[in-house]
Amino acid sequence: MKVICWLEDVFRGDLPNIGKLQERDLYGRNADTLCVNNPDYRNFLNGLVEDYARSYDIDGIMWGSERQGALSDSLGATHDTPPIDPGKVTCFCEFCQSKAKDRGISVERARQGFLELEKFVRSARGGKRPVDGYYVQFWRLLLRYPELAAWEMLWTDSLRETYAAIYKTVKTAKPTVPVGWHIWHNNSFNPIYRAEQDLQELSKYSDFIKVVMYNNCGGERMALYADNIGSTLYRDLSKPGLIDLNYALMGFREGGYDQIPHTGLSADYVYRETKRALEGVAGTRTLIWPGIDVDIPTEPKNSKSSPQSVKDAVQAAFHAGAPGVILSRKYSEMRLANLSGAGEAIRELKVPV
Ligand SMILES: [Zn+2]
Repeated sequence: MKVICWLEDVFRGDLPNIGKLQERDLYGRNADTLCVNNPDYRNFLNGLVEDYARSYDIDGIMWGSERQGALSDSLGATHDTPPIDPGKVTCFCEFCQSKAKDRGISVERARQGFLELEKFVRSARGGKRPVDGYYVQFWRLLLRYPELAAWEMLWTDSLRETYAAIYKTVKTAKPTVPVGWHIWHNNSFNPIYRAEQDLQELSKYSDFIKVVMYNNCGGERMALYADNIGSTLYRDLSKPGLIDLNYALMGFREGGYDQIPHTGLSADYVYRETKRALEGVAGTRTLIWPGIDVDIPTEPKNSKSSPQSVKDAVQAAFHAGAPGVILSRKYSEMRLANLSGAGEAIRELKVPV
């Protein structure tokens, strides 16, 4: 049995001195999240993975950050509930500010833009329709403050630099240890976030990428994404219209807004996501390991994993050409009967394990 370490970008708020590493929000207040541009946090992460690689007989390291930049966060472009308050978006710490200046981004203009965006989001959530509609008003803001997009990309590039630094650290310590990333489920919902997951770019410092494609909970989560973004940017669309638009943008063919929380997304979603990810890394040496949903919790009335749903999802991933899968999220929440669906799929496919 191989052992691959899994680490995530989440830390308790009561650790000694954690405040020094935390991000700063739009108003300069400490956030719960840590800043990847803070040298102390970067050094901590690199020290941690170096220790794992040098001190233990491990077979791989996977790190994950289920976060996005201030633009997407302000709009509530995620399935997380409740979405982040638009006044608490990050990061505006001294390190991010100085990095922005180096890139020629005006910190003051960015801050003004996010304050305007905060007003837009608050009044949209209150149902106060701008004269020209929500979508047009957002574009008016973005055109006036292109710093909104620049700040988002600053955050994304900083995360990529963190990936690259972890990769280099591990490879220097022990070149044979594979290094890769967990890509957040929002990759299936928010097109802005997907645009930031440029697989060709990521392949430069990725031996493998676990692309989350949890199909059962994906139905509930897609509907939650529609609720969130349908309260801001797309408030002028009906929920069914929004879902149809999103399927077209993201390349899916799934059930209606009212149905998907109760049915989940289909195995065809796993097939399409696997194909897309494989095409995304074409010509590189990066492996794609689809993350398969086995009993990820959903609301009591919503769909649950079954041996058949797990089997269908695993088979879809392999039929699309995946070289392997990651049964997710964790063994402790999986029912053995449902897990057996994965075994059945593998035996039928005759995949070498
Ligand atoms: Zn920062």
